[in-house]
Amino acid sequence: MAIIIQGLSQCVLCGQTLDNSKEITGAPPLTSNIKDPLFIFSDAGMHVSCLDAHPLKENLLYQIQQGDRVRGAANARCIVDGELITHPDDMLGFGMLTSDLGEPLAAFNFIILNRNNKYKWDKRNAFISLAEEFIRSRKWESYGPFNSLEYFMKELA
Ligand SMILES: [Zn+2]
Repeated sequence: MAIIIQGLSQCVLCGQTLDNSKEITGAPPLTSNIKDPLFIFSDAGMHVSCLDAHPLKENLLYQIQQGDRVRGAANARCIVDGELITHPDDMLGFGMLTSDLGEPLAAFNFIILNRNNKYKWDKRNAFISLAEEFIRSRKWESYGPFNSLEYFMKELA
């Protein structure tokens, strides 16, 4: 969850300071893609009332729920062989690639796989093509120098 400092942090939706006058909530880090509509919520604090009034609330809660399902070492199972990934370095976790469920790339949201199985993954080429297309269509722009989508593509190449 986002770190919220009462009286200092601002609501990402209305810009007002988050203090104890209104109920507040936070969202976990979701995406580093500044072009994703949910980027604004990523790792941010907000008023419950502002979130309630926001048209993307349901999508946000859905994505957070999907992320919660794969978080934690006990859930680190490779999509290829179903085995628990015991070495953290072996794990590739996509997280939320896109919040737009109409995007074909959304089928790859929150996938976890063991790098050692990458050549056994039957959707590897499909994923790389979709990721390339997503970037070529300028739907991905990273916040900061690290482009996680390009990183996943390179790791799987
Ligand atoms: Zn607010």
